[in-house]
Amino acid sequence: MGGVTVRLDQLPLRDDLRGKTPYGAPQASLPVTLNVNENTHPVPQEVADDILDSIAKALRDVNRYPDREFSTLREGFADYLGHGLTPDQIWAANGSNEVLQHLLQAFAGPGRTAFGFAPTYSMYPLLSAGTGANWIAGSREHDYTLEAGSAAAQIADARPDVVFLCTPNNPTGTPMGLDVIEAVYEATDGIVIVDEAYQEFAPRDERSAVSLLPGRERLVVSRTMSKAFAFAGARVGYLAADAAVIDALRLVRLPYHLSSLTQAAASAALRHAPTMLRMVDDIVMQRDRISATLDALDYQPHDSWANFVLFGGVDDPAATWRALYDRGVLIRDVGIPHHLRVSAGTEAETTAFLDALASIESAT
Ligand SMILES: *Cc1c(COP(=O)(O)O)cnc(C)c1O
Repeated sequence: MGGVTVRLDQLPLRDDLRGKTPYGAPQASLPVTLNVNENTHPVPQEVADDILDSIAKALRDVNRYPDREFSTLREGFADYLGHGLTPDQIWAANGSNEVLQHLLQAFAGPGRTAFGFAPTYSMYPLLSAGTGANWIAGSREHDYTLEAGSAAAQIADARPDVVFLCTPNNPTGTPMGLDVIEAVYEATDGIVIVDEAYQEFAPRDERSAVSLLPGRERLVVSRTMSKAFAFAGARVGYLAADAAVIDALRLVRLPYHLSSLTQAAASAALRHAPTMLRMVDDIVMQRDRISATLDALDYQPHDSWANFVLFGGVDDPAATWRALYDRGVLIRDVGIPHHLRVSAGTEAETTAFLDALASIESAT
């Protein structure tokens, strides 16, 4: 870092960013990496081949700016989500983090507030701060569930401009009833964002918040290709909402924010949705195996509808995290006392994690 000549606090940084730390899940190249809820199964070869063909075609026109309205991709997402959605109700960006940032830029920002029920996704307060909005943390029941009456009362009290409802919730895995979403929506005049980043890992017969969109013009349902679609490295997130919400997002996005290569890759992957999602059932099986084995090892796994498990009963999370690291297994210390979080991997990776944890257990 020979180019660093001043410290951060010597720069004329915005006052509200002073003392803040960036998002920082460790990126270590260990044999078993189960710390950021990625899909550890690679994209199937036949899909990879088709994606490559599509990118090659897009490359021929890469001297031109991309389709600013990413029309083909929006059609793809509308078809994938179903529920009679039309492309004018779809938005997408480079990861759902950017989608959420667009929402905050349009509906939060300086002098406004964003709200979430803690513990929840650590990026919400960071993204809010980035737009200059204040973050308000609400509370959950002791088992991290949310009850409609309590949720609505907290929202009515805090009067936020934007509400984040993460379901299944990261980092706890907890699902949220549609009754909670309806109650929160009624309790606010603000934008209600339901973050369904992990929806594909929930039981198949459970209804998505997409089904609540008709008649609710301030409701937004956000999704990502990073988890179930095994597309984290491509950076593609999307949302469904009233077409007027999409018009608001056009005011804040950078022109041509989605590259033609990204659009080509994502559209091709979507054409193979069933194949891309074929590993979801296996991941759900590994998740349930993790929960059952943690239980047998006397830890306390929380119910999860996502591709990860949060578990309590850890005497010293930092020490257990380190002992796993030394055994080549990377998981996540999310800062909840006596808890750690692990993503479900392939069968072999999951076994490696469970064996490593069991060996620490017997060593103490
Ligand atoms: C992983 C995750 C996302 C997705 O982020 P991308 O930017 O799409 O990779 C969004 N919300 C939650 C709660 C997540 O855990």
